[in-house]
Amino acid sequence: MRIERVTCHRQLQPFADGPYVMSGGRVEQGFDSLVVALHTDGGVVGWGEMSPLGTTYDPAFAGGAFAAAALLAEALLGAAPAAAHRVLAAALKGHPYAKSAFDMAAWDVLGRAAGLPLHHLLGGADGEGTVLYRPIGRGSPDAMAARAAEYCGRGYRRLQVKVGGNPAADEAGLRAVMRAVPDATIYCDANGGWSTGDARTFLAATTDLAYTLEQPCATFDECRSLRAQAQRPFVLDECIEHVTDAVLAAQAGFDGITIKIARVGGITPARLIRDVAVAYGMSVTVEDTGGADIDTAAMAHLSLTSPAANRAHTVDFHHWVSVSNGTGLPPTDDGLLRAPSGAGLGIEVDVAALGDRVLDVSR
Ligand SMILES: [Mg+2]
Repeated sequence: MRIERVTCHRQLQPFADGPYVMSGGRVEQGFDSLVVALHTDGGVVGWGEMSPLGTTYDPAFAGGAFAAAALLAEALLGAAPAAAHRVLAAALKGHPYAKSAFDMAAWDVLGRAAGLPLHHLLGGADGEGTVLYRPIGRGSPDAMAARAAEYCGRGYRRLQVKVGGNPAADEAGLRAVMRAVPDATIYCDANGGWSTGDARTFLAATTDLAYTLEQPCATFDECRSLRAQAQRPFVLDECIEHVTDAVLAAQAGFDGITIKIARVGGITPARLIRDVAVAYGMSVTVEDTGGADIDTAAMAHLSLTSPAANRAHTVDFHHWVSVSNGTGLPPTDDGLLRAPSGAGLGIEVDVAALGDRVLDVSR
């Protein structure tokens, strides 16, 4: 089986619930998504998706992914889908996010060709589904509490409260959320926005509260300097780019890592990093930086193959955005993301919803 044609689409995906507000004044209105289709000589077509969260979240931006797409597509022509990750690595040094949708599409091809849901190829499902969380963007305490109550009313059991600004304001927001939804599991995610001093102030003011701390400062060394003071579960996200970062996190005593499929370069490296983190006994979250149904299916399959004892949570991007790019994801009313039952990613892609093709190359 060989790849004989590659097509790409660009889908703009506005957020359904308004702007996404992170530390540092970062506000995003939606995802700018690259959707890739790999067409094989056997007639199997596999799909993948990648969207960075704007231009200031990761060292990634949509324009970069679209610029790299022509080069990566040309490199894949004639290649075996099973070798896609190696071919992508040889064609372009770095730029992992630009390769992610291509790697994902190759996995979709392999699953569809085998007639098996992707989780069968990635280690097998452990359990039924992965617990979902929703982020609560930074805002007034009242607005944050109202949003938290709304999400828990929709079935979400976990919330990720965005912090990373003024520590007193962040504390007020967190306390308002916890009063509104006392039964929810809470993560506080600064997205690397705090100085070590601000993080220490927040930690000292919230010792009476039960939450998991996520990526308080931008660098690994800053986060590590807080490990001893943070007498609570502590996970890294933005610091995790390579498998070696997972090893360093484990050795420094962090409790878990968050793996973004796009940040690390696709399902292939995400699975490797996940397996290493599990081998060290850490908790793992497999999620991504953006997308809709296609990307959510990838998160669902890979998350489901993390051992349940190590699995933290994931996201349902197809419910974050006001557009769709396919069908097949099971309902999430009970706060669990289940994997589609069809072969590969299990998504019936709605090509008409994707808009015009931005790339079409063939052998
Ligand atoms: Mg995070």
